[in-house]
Amino acid sequence: MQTVSCPSCGAPVPFRSHASVLAVCEYCRATVLKEADAVRDLGKMSEVLEDYSRIQVGTSGVHGGRSFTVVGRIQLRYDAGMWNEWYLLFDDGADGWLGDASGQYVLTTKRELAPGFPAFDAIQVTRQYDIGFGPYVASDKRLAKCTGGQGELPFRVGEGWEARVADFRRGPSFATLDYSDGTPPLLYAGNAVSLEGMKCQLLRDDEQIKASAGKYRGKVDVLQCRSCGTSIRYLPGLAANCVCPACSTRMDASSPKVEVLLKGEEHERVQFTLALGSVAKIGGQTYTVLGAMRRQDDEGESWDEYLLYSTQGPFFWLVETNEGWSRSQVMDDWPTPPLPAMHAVQVDGVSYERTWEYPARVSYAAGAFNWRVKAGDVVQVTEYEHGQNGLAAEYTVDELSWSRSSPVAEDQVRSWFGLAEPAGRKSDKKALTQGDIAWRALLWLLGLNFIPLIFNFGPSLFFIFAGLLALFLPMFLGHPKQ
Ligand SMILES: [Zn+2]
Ligand SMILES: [Zn+2]
Repeated sequence: MQTVSCPSCGAPVPFRSHASVLAVCEYCRATVLKEADAVRDLGKMSEVLEDYSRIQVGTSGVHGGRSFTVVGRIQLRYDAGMWNEWYLLFDDGADGWLGDASGQYVLTTKRELAPGFPAFDAIQVTRQYDIGFGPYVASDKRLAKCTGGQGELPFRVGEGWEARVADFRRGPSFATLDYSDGTPPLLYAGNAVSLEGMKCQLLRDDEQIKASAGKYRGKVDVLQCRSCGTSIRYLPGLAANCVCPACSTRMDASSPKVEVLLKGEEHERVQFTLALGSVAKIGGQTYTVLGAMRRQDDEGESWDEYLLYSTQGPFFWLVETNEGWSRSQVMDDWPTPPLPAMHAVQVDGVSYERTWEYPARVSYAAGAFNWRVKAGDVVQVTEYEHGQNGLAAEYTVDELSWSRSSPVAEDQVRSWFGLAEPAGRKSDKKALTQGDIAWRALLWLLGLNFIPLIFNFGPSLFFIFAGLLALFLPMFLGHPKQ
């Protein structure tokens, strides 16, 4: 470790990593640039926005058998929110990055870039590229602005510094091509990780986060719409993209300083089967409906999707269509090939056949989401099927994601949410009344025939069955399909 004196205030500024060229003075926020034989003050670095991250400079952990310490971070903002890139120093002197966005973590290290890499503008999300170790599919492409920095960093970065990055996927693997400093880009590769899996220490606990950010991370809290004052339930640090149910104003609440992304207008609320904030008991855990959206295909058919969250499990979606309910979850381990327009794809050795392809447009969205959502958004969907289970690839020019779904019986959904039988189903009521009549008639018939039946096991049995058939058959035939 090398320690220099801050050119601005004289305080000691440590450089733990040899790769670091810049450090932010802890005392006066001067950006200290380390050159061959001198240090320079590049001016004040804007302070990182207080957020709900559990990580902090000083957090340590283990990855791939190697210990690391977090020595710095940059905070980035793009049109859908904010994320942190934590700069890691491994005990053997190597460095790496821990991406931290809405509770999803990816750990990457710098790799050798193979020739034949694509130009940033030429990258098409959903297409495959060989980035040095086999084909990876482009899954995300974005421009982001650095809004603050902390600790030490391996490159010159300041306010307004722009990141140009494209992400790639292959099974559970993840890679980023970083064009921020032009071409050739820098290649970082790794995979999705969890803080528990890396045995992280010196994490900020609930109380520390609450003390600095005013709210607990990952606990359903209430936010007042900045435009009309309506209360919106959201999850600080995890589902912070909020759309007001009353006026559709979009807000980013990933930091305590809530930012209005787009102001909406007052309108009539859409009625959903599951209301925002409804609570369900699923497998002994309590889930809350955080967000709801109505989507529509190009033929005008619409369906509803609900985002559910529990403190113990990952997010999942409940989808309600004319044909019933299904449960869907975003995949971390992608199918092969991970491309949307295939005849079939494989997951865990099982082949899924392509069934439908259609554009899906969000016609209404309300509540909190763990990714960007707004009315008018259109994604292209390709669905695949194996038996009752399905896969879906959803993509735009900027983003591709995969999810997996399985059907859920309507009775099951009703029992999870403690919902009564829907009032509108008159045909069911009629069938029940018909059933009542049939039962009464059957009892009467049995009453009449029971005594003789004991003594004479003859034609009366035939009459009972004939009566049964005559009474119940029309009811079964006429019973509406559930
Ligand atoms: Zn200083
Ligand atoms: Zn509002």
